[in-house]
Amino acid sequence: MGRTTRLGDGLLIIAILLPLLIALPRLGWPGDTLGAWLGWSGRVAGILGLSMMLVTAAISIRIPGVDRWFGGLDRLWRIHRRLGFGAFILIMLHVLALAFAVLPVSLQAAVATLFPPLSHTALWLGWLAWLAMVVFLAPTFDFFGRLHYQRWKRLHLLSAAALVLALLHVIPLAGETGAWWLLGAAGLGAIVWRKLVSPWAARRPYRVESVTPLARGVVELGLRPEQREMTYEAGQFVYLTPLDETLSAGRGEEHPYTISSAPGDPLLRAGIKDLGDASHALQSVAIGSRVMIEGPYGDFFRRRFPERDALWLGGGIGITPFVGGARDIAGHDATDGRVQLFYLANDGERAYYLDELKQIALDNQRIAVTAHFFRREGPMNVAFLHAHCPDFVEREVYICGPPGMVDHLRRLLGAQGVPAARIHCEVFDFL
Ligand SMILES: Cc1cc2nc3c(=O)[nH]c(=O)nc-3n(C[C@H](O)[C@H](O)[C@H](O)COP(=O)(O)OP(=O)(O)OC[C@H]3O[C@@H](n4cnc5c(N)ncnc54)[C@H](O)[C@@H]3O)c2cc1C
Repeated sequence: MGRTTRLGDGLLIIAILLPLLIALPRLGWPGDTLGAWLGWSGRVAGILGLSMMLVTAAISIRIPGVDRWFGGLDRLWRIHRRLGFGAFILIMLHVLALAFAVLPVSLQAAVATLFPPLSHTALWLGWLAWLAMVVFLAPTFDFFGRLHYQRWKRLHLLSAAALVLALLHVIPLAGETGAWWLLGAAGLGAIVWRKLVSPWAARRPYRVESVTPLARGVVELGLRPEQREMTYEAGQFVYLTPLDETLSAGRGEEHPYTISSAPGDPLLRAGIKDLGDASHALQSVAIGSRVMIEGPYGDFFRRRFPERDALWLGGGIGITPFVGGARDIAGHDATDGRVQLFYLANDGERAYYLDELKQIALDNQRIAVTAHFFRREGPMNVAFLHAHCPDFVEREVYICGPPGMVDHLRRLLGAQGVPAARIHCEVFDFL
């Protein structure tokens, strides 16, 4: 983890703790009895739960470059997901601890704490916030099976209602409200930016200049900027929103795609595999039609190729960041270290970028490319790695591909003594 990432994580921790630090003098320390201790813990859990919820919303803001403070957008989404889950658990504990705190007095007192008369508006708003949270979080944690991504996104908008209700619950009850206003503005501001402002302010228009078929169900789009081009680094990705009116699906929907061109290339390229309705429709997007591009995001190669020798393992469509990296090496002499790329594919037919990558390797001493075909060799193993890259244990490792492949490789390399901090992975799935 780099210094910037530590700084980003530190800022998040401070933001989460801020309301509690301000409230602590008023809360004092828990008393001696179990009831007093539970009452205190319940309040602390509530404060921490809500501040985590607001910070979770704030980090959904998605501004190019800011994600790198947190190790890239994919890491930021993992933090978002964990914080959201943590907030939910803390809010449950908040409710339960406050009810149990008065249980020694009587059962009625405990029930009345949970369900007070309707005139206690602030408390009922808290329940409504909790209900909204259950509805939008349940599909995220696969409670009802996997939801269609776009439907899940629309449902997730309920988080804005949950935040407003939770703030209306806490502000009348809190002594110091400054921190809540601050975090509330950050959380709700992030949602307003994402949903209302960024579709207009953060996207750049490009035109589809080429659609090159690479294999069955895989094309590479070549996109030309209509205005100022976007600057990016190898391994980063963009959100692509096609506007082609003839598309059978996905028109106006944003989807993340890795940039497969090298920084500075006149065309922005993205290799796109048919994995669902929108990516299927993109296989035949009209040449000359407009797409909106937002980004770049991600920090896969950690800002620059490391001086340390690298091992790249790309599987299936997960080869795209390495195609961008190899094209960067070919065009701009982008690395000081040597790179060994293993291209993992089912067979030669599915290794759609292999010929170009081999040509780059022939022209450039710094990169070597080896294909690994699952149908011929079975799963990647240590003997194969040793045979083609004897010093793989010493290298900085980058893996991108389907989750099963990434897990297998991570375990394989870990068992050979490659430290986890030196293994960088990207899976094309934010859920
Ligand atoms: C960082 C990143 C880089 C990617 N790079 C590439 C690439 O270079 N080439 C490529 O072919 N694919 C890439 N993908 C995957 C690509 O985004 C999905 O295949 C595409 O969004 C599927 O949409 P669909 O409507 O066709 O399929 P659906 O059936 O709607 O979705 C299939 C799966 O794709 C994911 N997905 C769908 N929409 C989104 C979205 N808006 N945001 C995040 N995930 C979504 C979900 O996990 C979903 O379950 C990348 C994904 C990520 C997260």
